[in-house]
Amino acid sequence: MPEIFLNGQAVEAGAEQTVLEVALANGIHVPTFCWHPQLSTAGNCRMCLVEVEGRGLDIACNMPVSAGMKVFTDSDEVKAHRKAILQFITLNHPVDCGICDKAGECTLQDYHYTYNGEASLSRDEKVTSTKYYNLSNRILLDNERCILCLRCTRFTHEISKSMALGVERRGDVSNIRPVEDRPLSEDPYSDNIVDICPVGALQSRQFLHKARVWYLKATPSVCPGCERGCTIQVWHRKPEWFLKSLDQRQNTSIARITPLENPAVNGPWICNKGRDLARIFERTRAEEPMLKGRPVGIAAALDEARRLIGAARHPVALVSNWGSNEELETFKRCLGEVFHCHVKRDWLPEDGERVQDDLLIRADKNPNSAKARELFHEVGDPVIDEGTDLVLVWGEGFDFARVPRQAKVIFINSYLQPENGHADVFLPASIQTERRGHYTNFQGVVSVFEPCFEKKPGVSHAEDLFKALATPAREHA
Ligand code: SF4
Ligand code: SF4
Repeated sequence: MPEIFLNGQAVEAGAEQTVLEVALANGIHVPTFCWHPQLSTAGNCRMCLVEVEGRGLDIACNMPVSAGMKVFTDSDEVKAHRKAILQFITLNHPVDCGICDKAGECTLQDYHYTYNGEASLSRDEKVTSTKYYNLSNRILLDNERCILCLRCTRFTHEISKSMALGVERRGDVSNIRPVEDRPLSEDPYSDNIVDICPVGALQSRQFLHKARVWYLKATPSVCPGCERGCTIQVWHRKPEWFLKSLDQRQNTSIARITPLENPAVNGPWICNKGRDLARIFERTRAEEPMLKGRPVGIAAALDEARRLIGAARHPVALVSNWGSNEELETFKRCLGEVFHCHVKRDWLPEDGERVQDDLLIRADKNPNSAKARELFHEVGDPVIDEGTDLVLVWGEGFDFARVPRQAKVIFINSYLQPENGHADVFLPASIQTERRGHYTNFQGVVSVFEPCFEKKPGVSHAEDLFKALATPAREHA
């Protein structure tokens, strides 16, 4: 292993490493715009300039280590050149941080204050360019803010492989543009370019002008959109910044979803479906227990459910593969011996959705089939024979027309749907954003999700329901 010197300190370096990688591995920050650990090296922003004794200045991202080299990341010459580079990069940039969604998490803004701090030295008019260019149905592009780092084009070439973006023209009129016949709208990973854009040039339509990031908090969670189980951050309003008037729904709404980097599962990426989880979680909720459509208190609903369980001779349970590890284990422990259990698939691929690919997306559109399979063995399309006299349905995705005519139904569900009112007993349950739990993905990796919002007043956690249904049921079994 070659030894090199970073700011006078001897450090070990891998033979294949660059100076930038060695610096970062040893806790020395070197600023970058165009470099990204998952993308090829472009070397066009010049921000990572370092000084090498005997060789002068060069970019660290593209400099292989050689034994004994002496590198300075913070010399006066490096500082002066960084400052000059920032002056150059902002030459035609509008510096409109006050109205930019990236403010608060913008690399350019941070570096300007850290390494430059001066107003533009240029006396020339800024070259203007396209604002609000319609890059896709999900993303807008502000060409004036773009610093042409080419992270976005490299992402579409190297990671999502949609080849959807390129650069048009040269010099100070260069623009990022979609490639003809390769619409970015058809790239199911497109929104990752918004995250990796180091400035506010790429804007998510979903999040545009929705909130300043310093009012938001990111809660770690897991995407339930397929059995990959990507780790994500659910962004929502900090309690100390709750709105007291105007639209108070914002206090309990998902503002946006971004990836939570996890090398074991999804790296730094997620697909667009993961970003659209508000579409699933913010559907109208079912908040009242019911007996055949008549609202009742939870105690009366549980009493009736216990009575039905006690009276049943051939009860069948359809278990949800959206249940957490804890919920599935509790179900098995409390009710597994009372019911004949099948695991159903709560969600199937939707029309137009990418079913599976080599990057992240998996064909099983449910988060916890692996744990459900481990506990209950049967996952898929359950057969309910005619002798069944009680069906407990937990979660979505079941066709109630398959319930035998004489069978009673207990339904545990979170969202408003017509079947809630037809069940003999309906019990409303909390959703993922209201509770803590774990999912096991198809590779066996266990990931945690944390609550973001208070549980709705009328609903119960599924684990509590299973425990409440258990003891009398066992007595009757
Ligand atoms: S839009 Fe953003 S990511 Fe793409 S080249 Fe411009 S600055 Fe880089
Ligand atoms: S790949 Fe699957 S788990 Fe990951 S974000 Fe997309 S839908 Fe969610």
